[in-house]
Amino acid sequence: ISTLWNLDTAGRAATYLASLTSPIRLQNFIEGDYSDHSEPTQWVDSFNPRNGELLAQIPRSALSDVVGAVDAASRAFPTWSRTSRQERSEILLRIAAILNEKRELFAVWESIDQGKTLSRARVEVDRAISNFRYFATYILHEEGAVRYVDGPVSTMTYEHRSPVGVFALISPWNMPLYLLTWKIAPCIAFGCTGVAKPSEVTSMTAFLLGEVFRQAKLPPGVMNIIFGDGPGPGSALVKSPRVRGVSFTGGTATGIRIRQDTVADIGKHLSLELGGKNPTLIFDDVDLGEAVPLAAQAAFENSGQICLCGSRIYVHRTIYEKFLSAFVDYVQKNYRCEETIGPVVSREHYTKISSYLKQAKEEGADFLTGEIPSEMPQKGFWITPTVLTNLRTDSHIMRDEIFGPVVTVSAFDTEEEAIELANDNPNGLASILMTKDLSRMRRVGERLDAGLVWVNCWLVRELGTAFGGMKASGIGREGGAQSRDVFTNLRTLHVR
Ligand code: NAD
Repeated sequence: ISTLWNLDTAGRAATYLASLTSPIRLQNFIEGDYSDHSEPTQWVDSFNPRNGELLAQIPRSALSDVVGAVDAASRAFPTWSRTSRQERSEILLRIAAILNEKRELFAVWESIDQGKTLSRARVEVDRAISNFRYFATYILHEEGAVRYVDGPVSTMTYEHRSPVGVFALISPWNMPLYLLTWKIAPCIAFGCTGVAKPSEVTSMTAFLLGEVFRQAKLPPGVMNIIFGDGPGPGSALVKSPRVRGVSFTGGTATGIRIRQDTVADIGKHLSLELGGKNPTLIFDDVDLGEAVPLAAQAAFENSGQICLCGSRIYVHRTIYEKFLSAFVDYVQKNYRCEETIGPVVSREHYTKISSYLKQAKEEGADFLTGEIPSEMPQKGFWITPTVLTNLRTDSHIMRDEIFGPVVTVSAFDTEEEAIELANDNPNGLASILMTKDLSRMRRVGERLDAGLVWVNCWLVRELGTAFGGMKASGIGREGGAQSRDVFTNLRTLHVR
């Protein structure tokens, strides 16, 4: 950690990587310290998506490591849950300040590890900092743990909230630091303790985060970080009876698994943020000069690897041809591999996208730009941004979440048909709507099956509002008061 901690420019990191003779090895962060593996060591290989070379080895945490981390979090809970809001707020602000100081360090390693551009990584580090700042402020200004109700005169009636206990915080590989801290910040803000497990595909910034906690003097055990795969340590963590809540972001299939694994433990809090297959609806009153770049950004930001990406575009038929040619032209000029967008995250993900594209060709898709990538990547996991048309609504590429730089474009004739097409998917995470008609914004926006609707914008986030999905996209919401509900228990007291 001390070596990596100082590699805070792209140049320094590159020189270091070039000098390496063996991959970087990460260590779990338990009870305030980086610990060596306690059992015969097994490692998960993690590759650099830009060149396909081995970058790091992640400990595949053994059951004893999971137990050790849960023990540490359980020991820390009684004291941490009784600290004052001021105390917790100050620590959160110290964490934010250290992250801010080391912004470039985190951005550089996020970019190397995940493959995202450095500018995209900086945005995500800034958002991670905001996660800590936001909850530091929220807990000071909310109504407090107690809400009085005007009951009978002989009785004082009030509701009281208390922290739930130890949480499992599990995150995916697409926005590693941002999504992990979106769980860690409210967990510690509301007085819970936790064991965080980042994705085994992108664990670098979570490894660096332990040092931030140490420097911020977060009491040992309040937040522990363990590494490894999902079916191994991830699953053991979720199933632990001493873990009283799970906040999970990842794929729908994993979410279903976690729900099955916890169903008998009725009191365990469960928050699931899952996949999306989000529609972008473009009506004929838009200005194409604005609609085209927005639709392209929503489709291809982070190489299409954001759960909120608009991967199904539907355009009013009257402007369909005009939109299509402007869109393809814009994508070819502005989304170029190695220049403006990065590779996809891993060899497995590359292969998955490649086989979806092959299937799309067999299902009759027209490739307006982009191509089917070779079955195995040559050097790095690069996929050219791809625009497809002429697909049936029941084709795999229209129904499944591809999670890559692939977008489909189709036409609609009426507002009713647009809503029907948008909602014709098992997922319900986000929708993007482009129109200048205010009454249509309401007529359509309020009927979309989506936890988040963006009108003439995308990815705008206000941390106090509810975040989450409908249908197969998840259970529960997080953000502001919704996060408080995830991490606290509510009881009513009647006192005579
Ligand atoms: P994934 O479900 O494969 O893995 C997510 C995390 O779960 C990883 O840390 C993994 O190790 C762990 N895991 C896997 N199996 C587990 C098990 N049985 N028990 C406990 N943990 C387990 O997802 P991914 O491929 O890393 O991420 C991509 C997915 O995440 C996409 O579907 C995307 O839409 C979704 N996502 C959703 C949101 C949201 O806010 N709704 C945000 C980002 C990503």
